[in-house]
Amino acid sequence: MLSRDFDPARIVLFGAPFDSTTSFRPGARFGSRAIRQEFYGLETYSPYQEAVLSDSAVFDGGDLELPMGSSEAALEMIRGYTQEVLEADKLPFLLGGEHLVTLGAVQAVAARYPDLHIIHFDAHADLRDEYLGVRLSHASVIRRCWDILGDGRVSQFGIRSGDRDEFSWGQGRVHTQLFDFTGLGHVLDTLAGKPVYLTVDLDVMDPSAFPGTGTPEAGGVSFLELLDAVLAVCRQADIVGVDFVELAPGLDASGVSTATACKLLREVLIALCGR
Ligand code: MN
Ligand code: MN
Repeated sequence: MLSRDFDPARIVLFGAPFDSTTSFRPGARFGSRAIRQEFYGLETYSPYQEAVLSDSAVFDGGDLELPMGSSEAALEMIRGYTQEVLEADKLPFLLGGEHLVTLGAVQAVAARYPDLHIIHFDAHADLRDEYLGVRLSHASVIRRCWDILGDGRVSQFGIRSGDRDEFSWGQGRVHTQLFDFTGLGHVLDTLAGKPVYLTVDLDVMDPSAFPGTGTPEAGGVSFLELLDAVLAVCRQADIVGVDFVELAPGLDASGVSTATACKLLREVLIALCGR
């Protein structure tokens, strides 16, 4: 269901096995590999969308060989590969890895689409200016994206964790919907015709549905709520880049978290191919 043939593909899937700035439980570096291994076990047919994932639509670019311990070098490799995908007029779809990997992709996508907007699903605001003195951290990745894009370009949903300072800093700069996806339809209406990057930190889901992640936060959305939200974005927004991050498969011995990520991936790929 993933192709090794680059030319006919419309979407390029690639992995960034990186978790050097993970603040609590590491393991997200194994996320993209686990998704790739399990993905072939899924049905290609989606009963939700009554559609099949076609064999040629998605090229599997494999995992980037990223240097552990140098965030700058890893981000530059992610930026460079994303730029290659964009120059081939294909849609980059990044699999993390921890959330910092998003910054490399956004650097490339924003260079091509200067009026880029980000839709961000996460348990965590990720708006800190630095975390323990480090500015390139998964806890500050959306703040670094704001550095590039500026005010009014980020809409985040499902947020239920962050320090008081990052929430107050975000007021008037980013749109933050606490806890759920209320208002997503309105945001999508305002973004009509504008390029959108979708970043899904899978820990937006409740840990009962998705325990395999480095910083689990109780009180999250269900799989079906997240599915509805991502499908709404895929159908309505002009998506120019996507990522799924923060699956740490080794933290969930049941394997349910990886299976859940794979199912969400299938649905998003089918929805993107149907545009
Ligand atoms: Mn995050
Ligand atoms: Mn998170």
